[in-house]
Amino acid sequence: MNLTDSIDILNGIGDKRKKLLKKVGIETIRDLLDYYPRFYEDRSVIHKINELPFDEKVTFRGYIKNIENTRIGAKVITKASVSDETGKIGVIWYNQPYLKNSISETDEYMFTGILSKKYGRKEVLSPEFEKVTDKESLSMGRIIPVYHLTEGLGQKFIRGIIKQALDGVESRGKEFINSDIRKAYGLCERNFAVDNIHFPESYDGFFMARRRLVFEEFFLLETALFALKDKNKNSKKGIKFNKAKAVDEFIESLPYSLTGAQLKVIEEIRKDISGRKIMNRLIQGDVGSGKTAVAMAAAFMAVKSGYQCALMAPTDVLSRQHYAGFKSMFEKFGINTVLLTGSLTAKERREAYASIKDGSADIVIGTSAVIQAGVEFKALALVITDEQHRFGVNQRGVLFDKGDDPHVLVMTATPIPRTLALVLYGDLDVSVIDELPPGRQKIDTRAVDSRYRERIYHFIKKHVKDGRQAYIICPMVEESEETDSKAALSYTQELKEGPLKELKVSCLHGRMKPKEKQSIMEEFARGETDVLVSTTVVEVGVDVPNANIIVIENAERFGLAQLHQLRGRVGRGKHLSYCVLITDSKTDIAKKRMDIMVKSTDGFVISEKDLELRGPGEFFGTRQAGVPELKIANIIGDSDVLKQAQEAALKISGELDKEDNIMLKKEIERFFRRDIINI
Ligand code: ADP
Ligand code: MG
Repeated sequence: MNLTDSIDILNGIGDKRKKLLKKVGIETIRDLLDYYPRFYEDRSVIHKINELPFDEKVTFRGYIKNIENTRIGAKVITKASVSDETGKIGVIWYNQPYLKNSISETDEYMFTGILSKKYGRKEVLSPEFEKVTDKESLSMGRIIPVYHLTEGLGQKFIRGIIKQALDGVESRGKEFINSDIRKAYGLCERNFAVDNIHFPESYDGFFMARRRLVFEEFFLLETALFALKDKNKNSKKGIKFNKAKAVDEFIESLPYSLTGAQLKVIEEIRKDISGRKIMNRLIQGDVGSGKTAVAMAAAFMAVKSGYQCALMAPTDVLSRQHYAGFKSMFEKFGINTVLLTGSLTAKERREAYASIKDGSADIVIGTSAVIQAGVEFKALALVITDEQHRFGVNQRGVLFDKGDDPHVLVMTATPIPRTLALVLYGDLDVSVIDELPPGRQKIDTRAVDSRYRERIYHFIKKHVKDGRQAYIICPMVEESEETDSKAALSYTQELKEGPLKELKVSCLHGRMKPKEKQSIMEEFARGETDVLVSTTVVEVGVDVPNANIIVIENAERFGLAQLHQLRGRVGRGKHLSYCVLITDSKTDIAKKRMDIMVKSTDGFVISEKDLELRGPGEFFGTRQAGVPELKIANIIGDSDVLKQAQEAALKISGELDKEDNIMLKKEIERFFRRDIINI
């Protein structure tokens, strides 16, 4: 049996189970072995019946006697006694009359269940049980693994096939952490780790196994990121921009003066691209800190030096907004900006492609359509991605292949806690815009329940009278754009006919055609509509400084980072701004979230809290962050191991081609299968 074999090779896998297993991501033997338990139950201690404690889950063994079925109404109750040499207790099962005929009074069984005392009788209700045989038991008499499963798959079944796989394969994956590192960090070998993560021999065995596997995940990730950074530093020289100084001309043309932080970051970029290396820089700046102006400055330097620049945004709405912004800033300099999104007509697209190829397009703005095959640049030298948390590492990889190693600038408003930034962006240099443009007012944030809705409508009307505008963010119904869009439409209708009758209300949702979205957004931006009811499509980047109220319905459904992004739609101009979070949820986590939002407007504080409350898995949103899913490691709980893995990765960075690390290099490629390429 090989790790790459399909699970078909195992006994007990029919079509139905195969489908269910696929649902949880298991298709090969390797997937199965990588499917680590969620938690464990200690069934290693077998109690004597007269020593069984009450009210805790315990394991015992004995013979079943006096098995009887009684019918009470529609229910069948099966009662029996279980005894060993020390005593006797009762056991009860409901609605399993067949047990009477399948249990044998001469066989010994093992049980796991909770003993309770009812009306003076000692009884175990619905214990799990199995016959004692010579064969090793996977579910009793040991520390047993409990897996995350989907309906239709049972724990016993999955334990059984994992055991089959462990017995069937010779190696659980090649050892790829060389022995020097294993020794230095006291790590066990891979085979031992995989065996013991599924079926721990002992507590010690489990801890050793887990530590090794956690280390391994971090180590792979970090080694890969260091390799990317390294490749970038050592390989070809970067394209040199010889007219970068000209950026001053652009800065002077802006209608406002840049903040110190913006100027500092522009200077960092200028240094990068006037030098010898390829720029690979992450710009972190809270919502509203003015990242767009920095991106424009960078684009200006590229174009003035005779090159093309591509700017990618995660949504159509945002691409079009950037396109409009860049065009209006750059037309006077004779710079040609071109839009390239999935929503162009075939003719428009052809024209865009042609102008990109012949170089008449200086700046190309769009969604990931920009990096699709078929787009050929004449002289691409700078790629900027806005709101990077929406782009995967893989897309970053594809970018490198687009031009002659262009400089890369990545912008994100999701302030990432330091530990996480290292994991996510270990391959990038980081700049921080740590200052907001002057005159910004703190956004007054309130959390209220739905009884306040009337007052909120009144509040909106009052501000609209003063010339302001408002966003109302609809609840997310479920993870489906279709239902969310429907909900947004009907809610808009209600508002138009009822409480906001005298206002101009429009609706924006994910199921609209891009053209429609664009015209709705533009109307709102021009102030022709007063209230924009929207699903979260306005979440990122949208910039309408005149809007000063954002109402978020069912606020408990959103994560903190997302609430912060949404709130960032207001407070972008000189008007005092408000964010109203509506929630009727009384859960602890909802209360905590609302509390944090009301108390803090600092994106970094909020993201730290978010990570704490949600745990890294959800925070990452797995693929969304563009990092391979961490199966076992926990960025917060295992931060000490993370540090060690980073240290180890740094030690061997640059030595990936050594004999000792051949397996490691292969493993990194596998780990990033679809994500990081060409290391
Ligand atoms: P974000 O960092 O969230 O992308 P934007 O680049 O959209 O922020 O900028 C937010 C708003 O602030 C925009 O309306 C922009 O024109 C304005 N802005 C940017 N920089 C400055 C500045 N230095 N002074 C005043 N307003 C600025
Ligand atoms: Mg932005």
